[in-house]
This record gives sequence, structure tokens and C-alpha cells, in this order.
Amino acid sequence: MGMQGLGSLFGFRKNGALSERPEPRLRAPRARPPGRPTPEQALGWLLEGNAQFVSSGAPAPAHAQDEITSLAKGQSPLAVIVGCSDSRTAPEILFDCRLGDLFVVRVAGNSVDSTAMGSIEYAVHHLGCPLVMVLGHGGCGAVGAAVNLVIENSEFEGALESVVLPIVPAVLKAKAAGANDLLNSAVREHVVRVARRLNGCADLAATLTAGRLKVVGGFYDLHSGRVQMLA
Ligand SMILES: [Zn+2]
Repeated sequence: MGMQGLGSLFGFRKNGALSERPEPRLRAPRARPPGRPTPEQALGWLLEGNAQFVSSGAPAPAHAQDEITSLAKGQSPLAVIVGCSDSRTAPEILFDCRLGDLFVVRVAGNSVDSTAMGSIEYAVHHLGCPLVMVLGHGGCGAVGAAVNLVIENSEFEGALESVVLPIVPAVLKAKAAGANDLLNSAVREHVVRVARRLNGCADLAATLTAGRLKVVGGFYDLHSGRVQMLA
């Protein structure tokens, strides 16, 4: 087979541009809740997606060209995920979501600084997101570094300290509670603290009080693929 033959096999035109994509052949994408979903509907939809991820691991179908083109007109994500940068915790995958479904804020250790806060407020106030989920995960390296700082007074190079320091209060609380598994207890405590801080945020207060927004916390188990609700 010559180069031209190979190109048509993989859907590339001679000049290298992608031609029409084939229709997805796998299961259909999950239907989103109709209209403007409530926070509870958005949460149910996320957890249903995680159950789908856990139960079959079946990959979502490729995005059809018209799906991509239609998203160019605008976005209405169903949830903000405040997650960790860890490569094993991509929210779109573990919640079985598509492009346009999630507004994702990710930094190592899933902390919220002022830029992250602004991103969350944008998603809530301008995109109408009804749900914010703070998502920690088992064996988090950033939380592990904060544990090392507390236990061994470890020092960190460069900007790493700015990742570690916001997590220290959660480690101290878990340590004071006599946690058996200090690392994962601190992960959970940090999620709860970040979620509590968002729930107390003045700029979100009116939307929270009106019932148009809910802030929750979750813990992703690297072994089972399951997301457990924390707060
Ligand atoms: Zn992590």
C-alpha cells in the first residue's frame, strides 16, 4: 500500500488535514439531564458516570465532528471539578464525561488559590454550573509531601512549597485525631476543608442560599476507580 492509500485508511487527506471522522461505533454517550439541572441532578449524573466507569470500563465513543462543531458555539458544563493534577485522576474519564460536560480546575493537591477561586466563580456565575466537587484521591503525592513536612520537617525546592503549604492544616488535624492512615486521612480532611471554604465564600453565598449551587467533596480510590462522597 502506497502513502496515499495509508492516508485514506487513517482518514487523512493528501495535504495531511483530517477528513470526515467515522461515525462512533461504541455505546452512545450518556444523555445529560434535560434543561437546567439542579445541583442534585448534576451530582447524580456525575456519580452515574463514575458507576459506568467502574462497572465496565467501556470507553466513551470518539467525538463526532458535529459534536465538536456544535460545542464551538458555547459551553454549559454541568459541574466544576476541583481536582488534583495527578495523571491517574482525569475527571472526564472517571466520570464518563464528554467535551463540554465539566469545567475542570486542577493543581497538585486540589487546593484553591485566588486564580482557582476566580475560575470557579466564572463557571458558577457566567456558565451556570450548579455543582462544584472538590476531588481528592488516595495516595496523593502533594498531600504526602505535606505529611513529610509535618513529620520530618522536609524542605522543598522552588515553587513546590506553594503546593505543599495549603495542605499542612489538614495533615495537622488528621495527625491530632490519631489517624492510622495519616496520608489518606489528610487527603480526606483537605477535601473537606476546601469544600467548607467554598461553602463559606461570600461571592458564592447568594447562589448557594438560593439552592442553585451545591459544593461537595469526593475521594477517588485509585484501586477501585470509585468516587466516594465526603461532604
Ligand atoms: Zn494528588
